[in-house]
Amino acid sequence: MTGAPLAERVERVGSEISDAARSVGRSRDELTLVVVTKYHPAALVRELHGLGIRDFGENRHQEAREKATELADLDLDWHFVGQLQTKKARQAREYASVIHSVDRTELVDRLADGERPLDVFLQINLTDDPERGGARPEEAESLAERVARASGLRLLGVMAVAPLDEEPRPAFARLRSIGDRVRTVVPEARWMSAGMSNDFAEAIAEGATHLRIGTAITGIRPPRD
Ligand SMILES: *Cc1c(COP(=O)(O)O)cnc(C)c1O
Repeated sequence: MTGAPLAERVERVGSEISDAARSVGRSRDELTLVVVTKYHPAALVRELHGLGIRDFGENRHQEAREKATELADLDLDWHFVGQLQTKKARQAREYASVIHSVDRTELVDRLADGERPLDVFLQINLTDDPERGGARPEEAESLAERVARASGLRLLGVMAVAPLDEEPRPAFARLRSIGDRVRTVVPEARWMSAGMSNDFAEAIAEGATHLRIGTAITGIRPPRD
C-alpha cells in the first residue's frame, strides 16, 4: 500500500473513509481528515495541498512551526496533535488552528487570551499508564469547565489515541461516553478526534469527526531526527 503513489493513497483512504461512514449510516461530510505529516518534509505537505488536502497534523512544536513558516503561502489549517509543553503553548497558538492535546489546566490557561480564537480538544488517556498523553477520564468535566471559562478558546470535544493492548472499538466507545459527559458541561462540544491509519473505521463507527491519519496516506515515516 505504501508503495503506491501519493495521489492513489489519498484516493484510496478517502474512499475507505466514505465506505466506513456509509456502513454506519453517517455522512462523509461530517468527517474532517487531518493528514499527519510529522517527520516528513514540507514538500510533502505542499504536494498533499495540491491534491486538495487542507488540514495537517504535527506532533512536535519546533517541526510544526518550521513547516508552517515555510508553507505560509498556502491556505492550510494546522492541527497540533502531540504533547505540548506549557512554555511552548503560546508559540503553538500562533500557527495552529486546532490543538488536539489539551490535558491539564496550566495548558488551558497558557492557551487562553490569544489574538484570535483557538479551537481545542481535551485529550483523554484511555489507558492506566500515566506516561501516555492525556487527562484521566474523571478530569474531563473540570477541564471542560476551565476551557469554557477561558477567553478565546472554543472546546470542540474530546480526543484520544487507542490503547495498544486493547481492541480499538470499545476504547473509542469509552471516549464517546466521556464526550457525552463533557457535553453536560459544554453542550456545543460535539466533535471527537479519534482514528488513525489502523483504526479509523472503528473510530467512525463510534462517532469520530476528526480523523488523524498519517502513514496510510504519507507512507512510512522517515526516522525521527
Ligand atoms: C502520528 C500520530 C497519528 C497518525 O498515526 P498513523 O498511525 O501514522 O496514522 C495520529 N495521532 C497522533 C496523536 C499521532 O501522534
